[in-house]
Amino acid sequence: MALYGALEAGGTKMVLAILEEGDIRERISLPTRTPDETMPEMIAFFRRYPITALGVGCFGPLDLNPASATFGRITATPKLPWRNYPILSAFQQALGVPVALDTDVNGAALAEAELGAARGLDSCLYITVGTGIGGGLIIHGQPVHGLTHPEIGHIRVNPLPGDPMPEGICPYHGCCLEGMASGPAIERRWGISARELPEEHAAWDLESGYLAQLCALAMLAFSPEKIILGGGVMQQKFLLPRIRAKTVELLGGYVSHPAVESGLRDYIVEPGLGVHSGLLGAYLLARRA
Ligand code: ADP
Ligand code: ZN
Repeated sequence: MALYGALEAGGTKMVLAILEEGDIRERISLPTRTPDETMPEMIAFFRRYPITALGVGCFGPLDLNPASATFGRITATPKLPWRNYPILSAFQQALGVPVALDTDVNGAALAEAELGAARGLDSCLYITVGTGIGGGLIIHGQPVHGLTHPEIGHIRVNPLPGDPMPEGICPYHGCCLEGMASGPAIERRWGISARELPEEHAAWDLESGYLAQLCALAMLAFSPEKIILGGGVMQQKFLLPRIRAKTVELLGGYVSHPAVESGLRDYIVEPGLGVHSGLLGAYLLARRA
């Protein structure tokens, strides 16, 4: 039976696993330090098994253009020790097996499309709302890559009336979606952790309004068959119904489909794989390597 390595590479932690037929044989988690410290630990783990291939779902941005001189590198990350790090070739050289690299959210989207909330569908959009906001888009069963990879978490949103922080906090764009609706943006705006804001707080009206702007834009621009919202902030379960209602409102009756007529109840949904979509996505990338 073939063994595959999977790595969910995050800014705070690395989750590594060995899978056989989709079942996790072993799984460990390491803090993300510098490449000099963390890469040898990860390589040692994967070398303990005769893996056929490795899949890596990685925080970005990444250079995923095979024709580029810097293909397989992490690019403009604020995590300075990892900036320009050639993560793809480092694993290829150390392990001598095929390695597939994609963004963490493209990996998660792939897992949700093959095994999770969008199983059986040809397309979906997976969004994580956490420390940052990122999205992975699957069209015709494939993660979308183009000039680079989509960065839908950084689309500009319209500041809503009454927002006490309409300028946002993204260092690149100010009031982009991430700058307005990420966990840190909520905390900056209200001076209290997003976990502790009560359901009736005005914070959540703004939050659902901004996320609805993204959902409406995504439906108009790409028409994915499902939108999946995950990440720490979406633990607030009352958000989903509010986002659905505001998205319907923003569409203004223009998109006619039974999914819209039923209030997007089965269309804007939570992840089917819970917190496992990232790691299973890395595994699916390995299978494709
Ligand atoms: P990361 O994005 O770092 O991978 P998470 O998806 O858990 O990790 O996102 C962390 C962010 O989500 C933090 O800003 C935190 O405030 C927020 N968060 C985590 N849990 C909750 C919760 N239960 N309710 C609201 N916000 C939460
Ligand atoms: Zn931004």
